[in-house]
Amino acid sequence: MKRVLVTGAAGFLGSHLCDRFIAEGYHVIGMDNLITGNIKNLEHLFPLKNFEFHHHDVSKFVHVAGNLDYILHFASPASPIDYLKIPIQTLKVGSLGTHNLLGLALAKNARMLIASTSEVYGDPLVHPQTEEYWGNVNPVGPRGVYDEAKRFQEAITMAYHTYHHLETRIVRIFNTYGPRMRLDDGRVLPAFIGQALRGEDLTAFGDGSQTRSFCYVSDLVDGIYRLLLSDYAQPVNIGNPDEITINDFAQEILKLTGSKSKVIYTPLPTDDPKQRRPDITKAKEILGWSPKVSRSEGLKLTLEYFKKVI
Ligand code: UDP
Repeated sequence: MKRVLVTGAAGFLGSHLCDRFIAEGYHVIGMDNLITGNIKNLEHLFPLKNFEFHHHDVSKFVHVAGNLDYILHFASPASPIDYLKIPIQTLKVGSLGTHNLLGLALAKNARMLIASTSEVYGDPLVHPQTEEYWGNVNPVGPRGVYDEAKRFQEAITMAYHTYHHLETRIVRIFNTYGPRMRLDDGRVLPAFIGQALRGEDLTAFGDGSQTRSFCYVSDLVDGIYRLLLSDYAQPVNIGNPDEITINDFAQEILKLTGSKSKVIYTPLPTDDPKQRRPDITKAKEILGWSPKVSRSEGLKLTLEYFKKVI
């Protein structure tokens, strides 16, 4: 049985990855310090023999007994309000945490996949974003703690690949949504759905003309799984290129929930990217991957989940 370590296992993406590896017949070791993760996301896996959980902060030395085939590093605060609240931990998990896990991967001769992000492109001047674009990031702005941690993470991962010949994979994740997102994580989708369900006004930041492209979680997990098993070590964008303005997105949520709420406008956060859409040519060509779940389908599934937890 192959053994995989997933860090950030109790988080939104980490928990869905654990599910996928369990379904594929792996022994899964989930690790999380539970700062932003929620153990409830893993509760259903605890009775399984091929799942174990380690409550640990990967910014500190990481020890795992036995062999490991794969390490997937998904530990990190990932929503703007989280990484503004805990900026130093965000920098540490992306830098020190990644270094510890690369060391572990080397010691175990494991393949390491890191969760990078569309935030490495910052407020992009190239649209849609290709992997070749170097980005437009403000290192000392409020988002810099996340963006630069992830950029460092890519650099050190590539250095281990080049100098230590470690097998590495880099996925650049664009906005993703689905069940197990935290209703209070501040991101636009849980914010809007929560507001609509509570009958509150929807808070669009700025004039709402900025765009995002939302990918349903099962599509993302499938792209990551394919990338892990591929032989491609350069970064690959995984996301859904179906781009929408925040204004139009607010209208979709109002329609979906049948809410009578209004949309109100509040100040745009500093350095908020004006547009974002992945170019997924590489994922299509190298991994044979493209998203399958439309936004209307994915939003329905996500709404069902939020109705249960609100
Ligand atoms: N946003 C918004 N209202 C909210 C939360 C976010 O209008 O209550 C906007 C935010 O300014 C950004 C977009 O929605 O332009 C996506 O924000 P999110 O925090 O979900 O993720 P980001 O893509 O910025 O990391």
